[in-house]
Amino acid sequence: MVSDSSAIQEHALEGLPTDSVAILGIPWDEKSSFLRGPAGAPAHIRQALYSSSTNTATESGLDLRDEPRFRLLGDLDLENGEAAFETIERSIAQILDQGSRALCLGGDHSITLPIVRAHCRTFPGLSIVHIDAHPDLYDELGGDRLSHACPFSRIMEEGLVSRLVQLGIRTLNPHQRAQADRFGVEILEMRDWRPDDGLPKDLEGPLYLSVDLDALDPAFAPGVSHPEPGGLSSRELLGILQVLPSPLVGADIVELNPLRDPQGLTARVAAKLLKEIAAIMLVDSAA
Ligand code: MN
Ligand code: MN
Repeated sequence: MVSDSSAIQEHALEGLPTDSVAILGIPWDEKSSFLRGPAGAPAHIRQALYSSSTNTATESGLDLRDEPRFRLLGDLDLENGEAAFETIERSIAQILDQGSRALCLGGDHSITLPIVRAHCRTFPGLSIVHIDAHPDLYDELGGDRLSHACPFSRIMEEGLVSRLVQLGIRTLNPHQRAQADRFGVEILEMRDWRPDDGLPKDLEGPLYLSVDLDALDPAFAPGVSHPEPGGLSSRELLGILQVLPSPLVGADIVELNPLRDPQGLTARVAAKLLKEIAAIMLVDSAA
């Protein structure tokens, strides 16, 4: 049962089948460093998902519209300020406690910290694949240790995961390089990476996947706050999904900025990723 203090819409968790994948919107962008806007992203991604210009089939042939274990829970009801982090963590824990898995739609990247805090309790030995133009390893930004530029420093300091593998990275400065060395972060830098390289062959699940849409080249995903040229193509990113180790137990798609996405193209990319990631989670969950 959902408690009275739940931030998940009332009754949303009732009847949630075990092994389902819950799509949860996290409309939060207070920790953005340059532009606000990602708080509006979940609604745009859901709209793109169900746009009649396309269908709900995944590339593997699964139609999510017919899949009872694929559930949209709407947006979390979040307070202002850092109390939101506790609400996010508690809400994810509720989903995991029901035997379901969570695929979260950001929101800025700061939300990954409370999401991973919840996951590491249910999935000991968790590893993360973090796909981003930026390593998000600042110790602090503008005096804020919870900035969207910092979540992976906090995750590593708290010892939440056994491995952190980053892909798409092309903005390393000396401070963040030092942070990566300090924490033992495995960075596959964009300048060196080729599609055939995939991911480290010895990487094992349980796995959490965090996708910052600015990992993609701005030609493919212009609707972000920090576009950085020289990134992945949509097809390359979809190819990485196909080589993720199993089981994929949780994921987020963050940093869509609808104010920078007038054509809705980046929301469409996010919806495509949502479909493909959900399909992988559904297969892994049933295994
Ligand atoms: Mn980024
Ligand atoms: Mn990021």
